[in-house]
Amino acid sequence: MKDAVQNFVKTDVIPDLLQSFDLFGISDEHLISLPQQQIKIHPQVLNSLMEIIARAAAAGFDLQIASGFRSFERQLLIWNGKANGLRPVLDEFGQVIDLNNLNDDEKVYAILRWSALPGASRHHWGTDIDVYDASRIDDSYQLQLTVEETENGGPFAEFHAWLSQDLQQNPQKFFRPYIAGVGSISPEPWHLSYAPLAGLFAAQLSENILREKIQATDIELKESILKNLTDIFDNYIKPYQ
Ligand SMILES: [Zn+2]
Repeated sequence: MKDAVQNFVKTDVIPDLLQSFDLFGISDEHLISLPQQQIKIHPQVLNSLMEIIARAAAAGFDLQIASGFRSFERQLLIWNGKANGLRPVLDEFGQVIDLNNLNDDEKVYAILRWSALPGASRHHWGTDIDVYDASRIDDSYQLQLTVEETENGGPFAEFHAWLSQDLQQNPQKFFRPYIAGVGSISPEPWHLSYAPLAGLFAAQLSENILREKIQATDIELKESILKNLTDIFDNYIKPYQ
């Protein structure tokens, strides 16, 4: 089976909703751009996003989006850049790892610590966003998106305390997929997923469809990725589906 989802998207007889099922972030034509930002999201996320921004504002926070849609091509650039040593690969403490000391399997898992495998990023769907509170920082602040920023003493601690409550009160809308104790991806409290649509995307993503996509892609460490794909799927994708 060739890349079924991609072919599906290219067919022009299917309904609009299904047409927007671009599982691997190949196209951004079905997405909308947020005003004054280079950030794109799926149009079906917009209303709920505006609502949570308004609720945050009412509580005294300026909910901003650091990242929305990310294309397959962009994720591939990040992956290959890390595998080639053109981008730093960091350990769990944020220290640069010397990839020369690692075998290919170890390189794959070292990159996976902070970067999704192309094709496996929830940011491909336009349903997921990384958020922060711009009201507690100034323009010179370098946004890091670390857990420390969201905890006591961090600039976004109050915002995240509020966000936890808001997500509980509105369980049908956004949720945090990357929480402690689930899967192999480190907690990312800033990463929100729009449940009604992301669930539909997640249900489409199987190990086989991902394997076919990786096989058809010019990607660094391909052999090792394919060898470990069952484990990668079971630990970095499946726990969040
Ligand atoms: Zn994210």
